[in-house]
Amino acid sequence: MNYIVLDLEWNQSNTGKEPEAGQIPFEIIDIGAVKLDDGRKPVGEYNQLIRPAIYHQMHRVTGDLIHLHMKDLKKGRPFEEAVREFLSWCGEDFIFCTWGPLDLFELQRNMHYYHMTPLSATPVKFLDVQKLFAIACEDSKQRRSLEYAIDFLNLEKDIPFHRALSDASYAARILSILPQRVLSHFSIDTYVLPRTRQEEIHAVFSDYKKYISREFSSKQEAMEDQEVISTKCYLCHRNLRKKIRWFSPNGKHYYSVALCPVHGMMKFKIRVRKTEHGTVYVVKTSKFISEEDCRGIAQKKEQAREHHRAKKTC
Ligand SMILES: [Zn+2]
Repeated sequence: MNYIVLDLEWNQSNTGKEPEAGQIPFEIIDIGAVKLDDGRKPVGEYNQLIRPAIYHQMHRVTGDLIHLHMKDLKKGRPFEEAVREFLSWCGEDFIFCTWGPLDLFELQRNMHYYHMTPLSATPVKFLDVQKLFAIACEDSKQRRSLEYAIDFLNLEKDIPFHRALSDASYAARILSILPQRVLSHFSIDTYVLPRTRQEEIHAVFSDYKKYISREFSSKQEAMEDQEVISTKCYLCHRNLRKKIRWFSPNGKHYYSVALCPVHGMMKFKIRVRKTEHGTVYVVKTSKFISEEDCRGIAQKKEQAREHHRAKKTC
């Protein structure tokens, strides 16, 4: 399997007043990618500027950051043509790799705008090199800039940052030297969501599980779904008895703690996410925690309750 390390640059409206701004807030203007083979050795590069069809003025920040001008972009190719060529360059057996979680979402949103065949009918699996760097080199929750990672790893800074091909090339150099063990920590893009219960995602990693639900019409509907609110051990699949029932400190996140008689205490966290078309879906993570962590969560629940009570009496 090859690794396609992809980086995109996009432009956006200066005013937000264009009729397209809601559908396609970010117009892709530069595609850069490096192909690594199975052994993570570079075997090819792709670079293409896109001729803008929506935003004909450079956004002030974008222009300064990426040093691209409209006159350069006018020489680019139409988006659909470029993406078709790019996807055929990618080949058949590959996984996308990007620095951070945004690029694949924007690629799919731009493709949708042009009514192109979707990348996939189901959520796209990819490697977020920014996350893999954090897992390999720092506290796994940390998110650093590309330049920070290059400095950290003592890699040479021989090309300017913030152009699609140069950033793809830096991300590819980082990916090529990360330890093999971190590559199992794949990410899942949610531009396309599971359509049915069967398609829902249950991804088990070395120290946690991630579940991504199908779409629901509202938060209430989601929070009544049996699978969404279930508290199962991800190792033995038992339905666990809750020690702390679901509660939400802020109306967005929900927490629960349950005990597996064999594997121990497990924390569940639900994040309710809104989609572009007004529906919601749920990302639920489950992981093992200590007794002390459990007490911390019980305290958080108590605080949320007091806060709620105080609000009521005011
Ligand atoms: Zn268990």
